[in-house]
Formats: sequence, structure tokens, C-alpha cells
Amino acid sequence: MNAPATSAMAEGLAQVQAEIAAACARAGRSRAEVRLIAACKTFPADTVRAAIACGQTAFGENYVQETKDKWPVLKEEHPHTELHLIGPLQSNKAREAVALFDVIHSLDRPSLAKALSRQCENQARRPAMFIQVNTGSEPQKAGVLPEEADAFIAACRALYQLNLTGLMCIPPADEPAEAHFDLLAKIAARNGLDELSMGMSSDYAKAVEHGATHVRVGSAIFGNRSYPPADR
Ligand SMILES: *Cc1c(COP(=O)(O)O)cnc(C)c1O
Repeated sequence: MNAPATSAMAEGLAQVQAEIAAACARAGRSRAEVRLIAACKTFPADTVRAAIACGQTAFGENYVQETKDKWPVLKEEHPHTELHLIGPLQSNKAREAVALFDVIHSLDRPSLAKALSRQCENQARRPAMFIQVNTGSEPQKAGVLPEEADAFIAACRALYQLNLTGLMCIPPADEPAEAHFDLLAKIAARNGLDELSMGMSSDYAKAVEHGATHVRVGSAIFGNRSYPPADR
């Protein structure tokens, strides 16, 4: 893992905070409505510590194994930190995910809902969950299709009794993101879900203007990742 210089990280974080505040002002929203999740995958624990020292509390990780390596110590040192799983989750890692994470953003299929539901019951833990919606209907991308979202949301509530709080999307790289943000907001509104996890380094300000309650920002804070995160 490579660590960015602390001063560069602190500057990146301050810049992102300033842009979120500006986007909230443009949209007539309160800054308190938007949570910044620092996506710190591939960056070492000391980088996370430096971000915590700058006041950052919510962090996003993609891999269960990396989280197990990094976070038990960090959580002990900083119990107020909030840990979000933003990457795809295999059903056979549901037990560890429920144990490790406060929020899971990548709920996207009935088999995973079932596995998470069982683990929530076994562990008496109820992490908040976002359903990932594949707003661009891209074949290679995770997420339920927009036309399947209402039924899956209903099942997650009634059948699996999960602590469902919102929806998440990753818009197609080659399309303007706004239409995808608006589609996600529309699906959430008609299902009575208040939280929208959308917006990354390239488009988080736009996401805030379109109603994001959670933005997941990595490289704009920490710099470029030094290796392509393989799916572990
Ligand atoms: C890595 C990641 C991010 C952050 O990406 P950046 O472009 O570095 O801001 C956001 N969301 C998900 C799901 C990610 O995997």
C-alpha cells in the first residue's frame, strides 16, 4: 500500500468538503443532509488515521479481507468512526460483513439479502443497508435492474426484514450522471426511502445537487490508487 503525503490528503479533504458545502448552497440544501464517505481502499491504516485527525469519521472499504486487516485496530482506537462497505459482496462473506460494517451499500440480489438477513439475526446486529441499482442496465455491472427495484425493495423489507435505508448507484462511465442520479431518486421516493448513495470523485458535487445523502469519494481525497483493486 502506498501512503499519500498527509498534507496532500488534508488539502484534498478540505477541498472536497468545500465543494460539498458549495453544492449544498447551490441546491438550497443543508450541509447536514450530506455525509462524506472517504473511500480509502488500498490506502494504509496510517492514512486513515491522518484523515481521522482531520475530522473525517465515515470511511468506505471495498474488500472484506482488506477491512479485516485494517479496521479492528482502527475501530478500537476510534470507536466513533463509521465503516461502510461500498464494494460488491459475496454471499459467503455475509457473516464477516455484518460483523465488520455499520452500513452496507451493495445489497443487490435475493441470495445476498437472505444471507445478510440470517447473519443479522445470528449476530443481533442490524447494519443499515442500501440497495445497489444498476441504473444504466449495464450487463457487467452489479445492482438490481431499475424495473426490478420495487419488488426487491419490498422483499428486503417484508421477507428479509433488513434495515433498509436507501439506494445506491454507480452511473455508466460514458454517460452524463445526472439522469442516473434522478432515476435513483425517483425509485427511492416512490418506495419511501430517504437516503441516496451516489457521487464519486468525478461527480459528487452534481450528485449533491441531485439529492445525494451519501457521497463516496476516494481519489479526490487520497490521490490515485497505486494498484487496480482486484476483486478479493
Ligand atoms: C472506489 C469507489 C469509490 C470512490 O471512487 P473515486 O473515483 O476514487 O472517488 C466510490 N464508490 C465505489 C463503489 C468505489 O468502489
